[in-house]
Amino acid sequence: MQKNTVSFTPLAEIPLYVARLQASFRVGKTRSLEWRIQQLKQVKNMLQENEPAFTTALCLDLKKSPQEAWLSEIGFVISDVDHTLQHIHKWCQPRKVSTPLFAQPAKSYSLAEPLGTVLIIGAWNYPVQLVLAPLIAAIAAGNCAVIKPSEVAEHTASLLAELLPHYLDMACFQLISGAVEETTELLKQAFDHIFYTGGERVAKVIMRAAAEHLTPVTLELGGKSPCIVDRQTNLDVTASRIVWSKWMNAGQTCVAPDYILVEESFASELIQAIKLKIEAFYGQSPESSPDYGRIINLHHFDRLVGYLEKENVVYGGQLNRQTKYLSPTIVLAEKNQSSIMQEEIFGPILLIQTLKVRHDAIAVVNSKPKPLALYLYTNDPAFEDEVLQQTSSGSVGINDGMLFMANPNLPFGGVGKSGMGCYHGQTGFNTFSHIKTVMKRKFLFDVALRYPPFSRFKLSILKKLL
Ligand code: NAD
Repeated sequence: MQKNTVSFTPLAEIPLYVARLQASFRVGKTRSLEWRIQQLKQVKNMLQENEPAFTTALCLDLKKSPQEAWLSEIGFVISDVDHTLQHIHKWCQPRKVSTPLFAQPAKSYSLAEPLGTVLIIGAWNYPVQLVLAPLIAAIAAGNCAVIKPSEVAEHTASLLAELLPHYLDMACFQLISGAVEETTELLKQAFDHIFYTGGERVAKVIMRAAAEHLTPVTLELGGKSPCIVDRQTNLDVTASRIVWSKWMNAGQTCVAPDYILVEESFASELIQAIKLKIEAFYGQSPESSPDYGRIINLHHFDRLVGYLEKENVVYGGQLNRQTKYLSPTIVLAEKNQSSIMQEEIFGPILLIQTLKVRHDAIAVVNSKPKPLALYLYTNDPAFEDEVLQQTSSGSVGINDGMLFMANPNLPFGGVGKSGMGCYHGQTGFNTFSHIKTVMKRKFLFDVALRYPPFSRFKLSILKKLL
């Protein structure tokens, strides 16, 4: 068994590390495209050369299967590097725009410049992806970065702490190992951007600390992601996609469907289809399936079991506290007001709330904070349009679950309480850049219309030009 050998970073060293990175940024170490490309390749090398170690760490933390570890973490980040390497030249080019007549002759363009030294704070559920994907964007944009993985996924955090110094230019990057105390010390430093992934409570701590230095923040949060299932759907494919997206990583996914909204008269058919898929994917006893994960720790395990004690469990509910196993579970949520319908589940419990008519789903979604993702399964374009127009969410998945995350051409982020700012692909590059405006004029044609002394004649000409 891999041992968690990396100890937390001493508090007194944290300001020194940040100062070292800031000094490297000031002398321009991160500016050249060659340096950025080399660092990006090193992230990929680290993952490729240590794939078995990452797979083991993810298994020890969350019992992720090697396939899941590859799809959602290691391979995900490698393809993010590849996409970035493919497009970085274009992203760094000046973006030319036209110049209005009154400012002619001139050239107008914007230029992406790095922000400086940024802080990346990760969460535990996808402990590789959630620190390395923002790091790739930060590197591509030419920043120095402090990386603070979640201490909760301890094996992965230790592995990252051990490996990163062997691959990255340590004048420009620093991993801080630690929990609340270390993050609190980090937050006292003046960063140029803070990129935080995690829950709402800590997000407020981050934002308050950032306000002290007027540091901009990206907050990648969570919440209750609804899944509306219309009876006009392909039931078999719908059930497969719901089960895949809900029980991957034992439901510990920020964009997993949290609750299903379905017409009363179609609910039992849907529940039956979901049960059949659970058994097809994980067998009669998911506890012995190599593909089914475990809850990260006892705190979260007890929180999830707490829900079941008060609710109407219609499927599953088997558990083993010693191994932190909680089987795929379905709960009939009778009232929209019940506590289970207010809090994010973030575990393998799928809620079903029934409706008289499908249109009622919109009111239920709108009665809660804006979610990170909304899913809709339907073959009816009119209903699809109605849901898209009348709800707000970070992302929408129509007829599939969370696949949109794998498209680097789409921004990923929340809205309202599910977060602010976004990343992935060029959006991530922009998040870690300042888009600087440049207008270049010549000294010719210095028309005096805008200069005092003003006159009615000048004003009449200006009114025609502007
Ligand atoms: P967590 O416990 O790992 O905390 C996140 C980070 O905050 C950690 O690095 C931790 O050390 C730090 N932290 C914790 N308490 C702190 C404090 N008091 N002061 C400063 N820093 C502190 O993760 P979590 O909060 O349990 O994450 C789960 C939440 O994250 C869920 O709501 C989930 O939906 C959301 N999430 C969102 C995304 C996304 O991409 N939008 C991805 C994953 C998780």
